[in-house]
Amino acid sequence: MNYCKIFLKPKKEESLLRFHPWVFSGAIQSIEGNPEEGDVVEVYGANQRFLAIGHYQIGSIAVRILSFKQAAIDADFWTNRIRIAYDLRRELGLAGVENNNTYRLIHGEGDNLPGLVIDMYAHTAVMQAHSVGMHYARHNIAEALKTVLGDSLQNIYYKSEATLPYKANLGSEDGYLYGGEVEDIAIENGLKFCVDWQKGQKTGFFVDQRENRSLLEKYAKGHSVLNMFCYTGGFSFYAMRGGAEIVHSVDSSAKAISLTNKNVELNFPGDPRHKAFAEDAFKYLEKMGSNYDLIILDPPAFAKHKNVLRNALQGYRKLNAIAFEKIKPGGILFTFSCSQVVSKENFRLAVFSAAAQSGRSVRILHQLTQPADHPVNIYHPEGEYLKGLVLYVE
Ligand code: SAH
Repeated sequence: MNYCKIFLKPKKEESLLRFHPWVFSGAIQSIEGNPEEGDVVEVYGANQRFLAIGHYQIGSIAVRILSFKQAAIDADFWTNRIRIAYDLRRELGLAGVENNNTYRLIHGEGDNLPGLVIDMYAHTAVMQAHSVGMHYARHNIAEALKTVLGDSLQNIYYKSEATLPYKANLGSEDGYLYGGEVEDIAIENGLKFCVDWQKGQKTGFFVDQRENRSLLEKYAKGHSVLNMFCYTGGFSFYAMRGGAEIVHSVDSSAKAISLTNKNVELNFPGDPRHKAFAEDAFKYLEKMGSNYDLIILDPPAFAKHKNVLRNALQGYRKLNAIAFEKIKPGGILFTFSCSQVVSKENFRLAVFSAAAQSGRSVRILHQLTQPADHPVNIYHPEGEYLKGLVLYVE
């Protein structure tokens, strides 16, 4: 296969020699051939030295690296990469087991496939492309998924309308690449979830909170729990299984609340401990009393870009300040940020300011992050995005 060639400016090969998987457009000296967006290209440094091969795109990240060795990006390539990722999930005890079939199979750079996310829900793979190259490769990826997962795979839903670069004008439509079931009951750590990948947020479920939900279960016994930003109820069911006395789930999306109620019925039919409210977080927090002694705050990303970082930090401070003010003495707060642009230090500073404002004694019990099926490529620290603190509030 003859791929177009990208030549880098002098000294711009450093990051690739350290296996960082992106080439920025400013690093490019010249291009041989006429690559179209989404094409596979080869990248060369000084003295025509081969560096890597990847997907070309117009924009600030010009190439997303697929391999640092000469390689054909063919059926074997996709099958090998997906097999490596699947074997890791099996090793982690997330795939091929009875009490869990919900996990992230491909986490972009973390699985050496920049621009690709695949989440598994029982027999369904939900595929999300974040780059034009992955969009064009979607059918090859689907074939590779079938080869690796075999009969256990019955549906592949492609959901990239919202994640592909708008300017590329691909006219991509969400839909099935394989199968066509509209819903599946997913199992996470023995709990059942109805996942609506077609209309739900992201790929349908927030797989990344699995271990943090498990930790919450251990703290739940006898507590009055508020699960704020509950989405489809993830944390609530772990709290119920852990023996919480009451569990209130709040989200501004009525659709999310209706799925939460459905999920309660799946796991704890008729259980009077749970109530769900479709309401804005700040409104609910302002008017609620001080009866909760276990509060979860898992808001959506407050900052999607660096230029709104200050506002985002204010948002985290304000939100956490109300929780510190209202949580019962001896209460436990699980607080999160999933904004990639908010660093661990900045998030902790925002929570620290909120704690100081309340004047209460606060101790950090756990520092949380994303689970092992959302691995961080050591050469791509930008892949670390989920931050959480578990706090004891006297
Ligand atoms: N904790 C969830 C994931 C939360 S995602 C889980 O474990 O699955 C963030 C959620 O915040 C979304 O469901 C979104 O609908 C909700 N949300 C966004 N803005 C909100 C607001 N102002 N008030 C309440 N909920 C909000």
